Amino acid sequence: MPSDTDPILLTTAPNSSAAAQIIYGLELRGIGARVVENRKKSHDPLAIVLIDGDEEQARSAINVIWDAMLDLVPRATDAEGNCYFCGYNIHGLEPPVTCPECGHNVDSIESRRAASEGR
Ligand SMILES: [Zn+2]
Repeated sequence: MPSDTDPILLTTAPNSSAAAQIIYGLELRGIGARVVENRKKSHDPLAIVLIDGDEEQARSAINVIWDAMLDLVPRATDAEGNCYFCGYNIHGLEPPVTCPECGHNVDSIESRRAASEGR
């Protein structure tokens, strides 16, 4: 029996609209990807897997795409600009900031996504 290699997971998405934006952004960069059900334990129901293109290129493209999609959340902070996760005052710290109190990198895509999605 031929063993399928696991598809390369690029990112996960919370809904089909976000997934479509990611696929479109990848297409613009000449990278083929598709949306599949996310089988890993995660809050996101969808996963984007690479079908055609260089993995490293695809990963850097994914970062650029998420960064653009999260332009309203440049950093994971609360309304006062404190750490979104613990409320620690991180004013004036240059990115990338790992919160000294809770250890979250508030400039990472994951943290910014959590803040934008209210997780
Ligand atoms: Zn914190």
